[in-house]
Amino acid sequence: MTTIRSEHLVQSIADALQFISYYHPRDYIQALGRAYEREQSPAAKDAIAQILTNSRMSAEGRRPICQDTGIVNVFLKVGMGVRFDFDSSLEEVVNEGVRRGYLNPDNPLRASVLDESDFGRKNTRDNTPAVINVQMVPGDKLEVGVAAKGGGSEAKSKFVMLNPSDSIADWVVKTVPSMGAGWCPPGMLGIGVGGTAEKAMLMAKESLMESIDMAELKARGPKSKVEELRVEIYDRVNALGIGAQGLGGLSTVLDVKILTYPAHAANRPVAMIPNCAATRHAHFVLDGSGPAEFEAPSLSDWPKVTWVADASSTRVNLDSLDKKTVGSWKPGQRLLLSGKLLTGRDAAHKRIQEFLEQKKPLPVDFTNRVIYYVGPVDAVRDEVIGPAGPTTSTRMDKFTEMMLAQTGLIGMVGKAERGPAALDAIKKHKAAYLMAVGGAAYLVAKAIKKARVLAFEDLGMEAIHEFEVKDMPVTVAVDANGTSVHNTGPAEWSKKIIELKLPVTAA
Ligand code: SF4
Repeated sequence: MTTIRSEHLVQSIADALQFISYYHPRDYIQALGRAYEREQSPAAKDAIAQILTNSRMSAEGRRPICQDTGIVNVFLKVGMGVRFDFDSSLEEVVNEGVRRGYLNPDNPLRASVLDESDFGRKNTRDNTPAVINVQMVPGDKLEVGVAAKGGGSEAKSKFVMLNPSDSIADWVVKTVPSMGAGWCPPGMLGIGVGGTAEKAMLMAKESLMESIDMAELKARGPKSKVEELRVEIYDRVNALGIGAQGLGGLSTVLDVKILTYPAHAANRPVAMIPNCAATRHAHFVLDGSGPAEFEAPSLSDWPKVTWVADASSTRVNLDSLDKKTVGSWKPGQRLLLSGKLLTGRDAAHKRIQEFLEQKKPLPVDFTNRVIYYVGPVDAVRDEVIGPAGPTTSTRMDKFTEMMLAQTGLIGMVGKAERGPAALDAIKKHKAAYLMAVGGAAYLVAKAIKKARVLAFEDLGMEAIHEFEVKDMPVTVAVDANGTSVHNTGPAEWSKKIIELKLPVTAA
């Protein structure tokens, strides 16, 4: 019989969450490095370079890889011979570890979890509760898997009840383009096949806790039907040409993981959950002897890739921006923004809408300004702001016509594609939408030289800030004619992949 002490589990969970907030798993970094070498699309290569550079900077600075530090998923495998020294529930102890990890004053992580109990969506302030799964297994140890799952990639989770004779690969290949780029590719696909609806979803999530080994699998060749399916999906999804950040390119997924379970004869439940550029998970075993220890990776594990603003980027002064300049930008053009940039996301837009409906004066003048969809991490020490990467822009689509028609706004910065309503509004008002790289939050934060809250301070990370930026890298994702690189890029690269027989997959 092994006794696990509460303090050991709490501290191990807290340390794991800190560790994964700034260290990518080595397998992810190395697979992304290989994708960088293979990539031929300049836009996708630039995005991967930003993610790799950001990753190394986060490891060096011990600050979060992404401003979205995730919702915590914990998988516990409790040995039948384990006893605990506490009377509270296992969930309470795990959540104490989450609380300690997220409130660490040296590296406070963003509290992103909202209480749904009364649909008031109040922030729980410490990122609790985690989503916890417990399994009883033989043995006398406690095995723990901890992940911090980004909201953007979680939002793209899919489930289908296929007919038993339907093709799983066909459904995945049809579904991935519908997910857009809000899941911040290149990442992984976790797939659960079988069981029941909830079992398939759980397997999809759990499969993402495995290491990336597609290059090894391809090198040795598949040895089972599951491995054959992994390879088929990996090859076919990459051949779609979606590419890093959906800009069009050769690498959309770095691996595909599949877990299976027996299913009812009438059902074939299939779940798919993507993991993003902020792939974060850690694993440890407690045997009663003390808290887990985590070995920091060596900086030599990172590929020798350093993103620098290249000479082909156009410098833009936000303080003298007008519609004429915005109208001159071309889809795919790389810009370096300097000057004053406003911020705002879901809650701020909703409040602006209320102000406009009630004919109340807005607290901020948006005339000829650009808004950045971001919810930054709080600053520590001498930082101006914590990691501050873009959030998924489609959530702001329903407010875009209002913002462009009624506030004087002329540009937006976010991540991933825009939907039809936003494209129409951008075209109608001759505005533009710029894309920053999701998963490069620490790198982007380094371009922010000053930050202050201008309005709606009670919204916390969702308040309207004014950033003063210097050479913040963005790409024109939708120009004033409504042309979207998220449509043209994948179309161009999927064609090139076939015509030029480009190497889309790890070998
Ligand atoms: S990389 Fe993208 S999806 Fe992942 S946590 Fe960051 S913003 Fe969210």
